[in-house]
Amino acid sequence: MSRVFNFSAGPAVLPEEVLLEVQKELLDYQGSGMSVMEMSHRSKPFEKILNDAIQDLKDLMNIPDNYKVIFVQGGASQQFGAIPMNLMKNKKADYILTGEFATKAYKEALIFGDAKVVASSQDKNFSYIPDCSSLDIRDDADYVYICENNTIYGTKFHTLPNTKGKPLVADQSSCFLSEPIDVSKYGVIYAGVQKNVGPAGLVILIIREDLIRDDLLFPTPTMLKWKTQVDAASLYNTPNCWSIYICGKVFKWLKASGGLEAMKKKNEEKASILYDYLDQTTFYKCAAEKDSRSMMNVTFRTGNEELDAKFVEEAKKAGIVSIKGHRKVGGMRASIYNAMPKEGVVALVNFMKKFEKENK
Ligand SMILES: *Cc1c(COP(=O)(O)O)cnc(C)c1O
Repeated sequence: MSRVFNFSAGPAVLPEEVLLEVQKELLDYQGSGMSVMEMSHRSKPFEKILNDAIQDLKDLMNIPDNYKVIFVQGGASQQFGAIPMNLMKNKKADYILTGEFATKAYKEALIFGDAKVVASSQDKNFSYIPDCSSLDIRDDADYVYICENNTIYGTKFHTLPNTKGKPLVADQSSCFLSEPIDVSKYGVIYAGVQKNVGPAGLVILIIREDLIRDDLLFPTPTMLKWKTQVDAASLYNTPNCWSIYICGKVFKWLKASGGLEAMKKKNEEKASILYDYLDQTTFYKCAAEKDSRSMMNVTFRTGNEELDAKFVEEAKKAGIVSIKGHRKVGGMRASIYNAMPKEGVVALVNFMKKFEKENK
């Protein structure tokens, strides 16, 4: 067996300790005589897996009692539509466009109502986060929407927008659980787990109670109503049992590793190894502006497409894989999620130095 350093943006690297535990439990989950893959979602052992996962998440994030946590399927993209369906009362929502996923969410909201762009960084290919301290938020806007960490462009909101009292809805897919946050500042937080937490096919939603309604403005499929899953405690139908099981293990791994405060320190350390090097070389250029940089997705390029392609190819031979940038940005992207060990980042920087020397 040989494991590589996997810099994929998602699905992405998982903690090796977790994978080994799962391997051990694969044929016989804690004396049940079966794998979690084969187990009824209404069985006692699975009920415990689900309840533990929700409780551990609440502990990790310090989720206040007036928030509900649900696990749903359909990917983060499904929520682009579910959000306006569940939240619009006045058919108005204000969107901040900082990349591809925010734009997709905005376009989906346009299907349902008057979605308005109140800030955007499209003018510079989404390389920065706009100043959102005094935006023109409408008095009757139902919510303000952001994509908090922009997976493709490598930017992150370091200050949340001033929403003028409107509920903030945040797509945290690629920064979920990377550092402590104050949940009470949000109306809705949601994240597809395949970036920083677990296997694809599961979305976690954290919703403030007063935003969970039955009287929706639009004819909404039962499955897309958040209230359905809140009332059924995420078991309205068969959930993604496997992903919930692995996410639960990752939550326990995070707790055992010192929680989100410790994770933040580790992530900051990893990101600065990479950014410090990028700041003192002229061979590579960072795609994101300095004060908007993401700690999770680091985008850079040489400025020469052929050289970028060569970098990606040679990196692969050195055990550094899935580092090609998204086509909208080009160059390279190193996704250094929670489970990426520091040694992976050190190996990457060493490779970058070697490549610079050989190709300058
Ligand atoms: C990957 C990603 C999505 C899309 O997730 P799916 O689960 O594939 O729908 C949405 N938002 C962000 C920030 C992402 O990184």
